[in-house]
Amino acid sequence: MKITNLRLINFRNYTLTELNFPAMINVFFGANAQGKTNLLESIYYGALGLSHRTSNEDELVRFRSEGLAVQVRFEKEDTPHSIQIKRYLEQEKVKKLLLLDDKKISAREHYGFLKVILFSPEDLAIIKGDPAQRRRFLDMGLAQTDPVYYDLLVQYNRTLRQRNKLLKNIREKGAPENLLNTWDENLSLLAAQILQKRLANLTGFTTLTGKIGTVLTGSQEELTIRYNLKANNGVYLQVNAEDTRDWAEFYKTSLKERRFKDVLMGYTGIGIHRDDLLFTINGYDSKAFGSQGQKRSYALALKLAQLEFIKQQCGEYPVLLLDDVMSELDEARRTQLLHFLDGRVQTFITVNDRSLIPSLAETAYFQVRDGTIEKD
Ligand code: ATP
Ligand code: MG
Repeated sequence: MKITNLRLINFRNYTLTELNFPAMINVFFGANAQGKTNLLESIYYGALGLSHRTSNEDELVRFRSEGLAVQVRFEKEDTPHSIQIKRYLEQEKVKKLLLLDDKKISAREHYGFLKVILFSPEDLAIIKGDPAQRRRFLDMGLAQTDPVYYDLLVQYNRTLRQRNKLLKNIREKGAPENLLNTWDENLSLLAAQILQKRLANLTGFTTLTGKIGTVLTGSQEELTIRYNLKANNGVYLQVNAEDTRDWAEFYKTSLKERRFKDVLMGYTGIGIHRDDLLFTINGYDSKAFGSQGQKRSYALALKLAQLEFIKQQCGEYPVLLLDDVMSELDEARRTQLLHFLDGRVQTFITVNDRSLIPSLAETAYFQVRDGTIEKD
């Protein structure tokens, strides 16, 4: 996949900007607070319809403006396409319009049509943060390659919200407990399908991460990923794709067992929204024992593995966005990474100092200054 042109109107600190990208490696350099991250954010937003920095899309609209527009032109399987997102006010209500090749599409059709992977220093949270960060990493990767997975997640979250609401109604308004039976049944079936997809894909993904980890660390470190399934009584079960248990049955029984507890809490305590991933380095838990540098390399390995995973699934590399990560790698790793990407993966890189990125075969440099961009 290759982005050829980007047009921004009132996005963050960009008033009106249009850029062409003839090269595979595109470097955006400039001082702090000039708009480098904003630019990568606009590409991410154009591809996925959401921001990696905020859940409040209003923040993306330029100060004192009423709406924004992003247009990304790109090639997918050698065919040109364009995606447009417009956010605007209509009778004081915010409207969001998504267009693919000038035709209106839904968020589901939009998400993952143009595939991107973003890596920034905040991604350290995948290793260091709470389980929700690791689930988000896993879900976003899978949803980009598998629309059925996307649908299952939407349905699961809806069912979960409804079950939680009912739990509160039982607790507070004396609603009959047997109303839970249908929700438990539905939730169990959805959980089982999602879990099976997660486990099936994790096997290959773990292999890819291991391979990339070996390259990044000069064979020093063996990276492995395990799936921790939250069971009743706070126990984590380590499970994998070879486990042929009837997962729907497992969830149904577990939900039944904990009904009393869930009613008390007004919340569903087990399910795929409670599971976790365990990332190990040479067999030990990287979150607990890894050094800062090891965690950073691990997070990078995970993102590069996602890149390879998408290539395996879809036949084409996604676009890679690297925000502020170059200054954190030593020169050897920086060069290794650029050689790994060069000519294969279209990459957008931000740095303060352009000399950090040696010019490879196909590199374009852009200077970012106060919301304006000039090709250097
Ligand atoms: P650094 O090197 O520090 O990471 P950067 O070039 O990546 O800097 P950005 O985060 O892209 O910086 O841009 C930050 C600037 O964008 C800030 O000065 C901020 O005031 C401005 N900004 C953020 N949101 C908006 C908005 N909605 N409207 C106008 N300006 C905005
Ligand atoms: Mg930045």
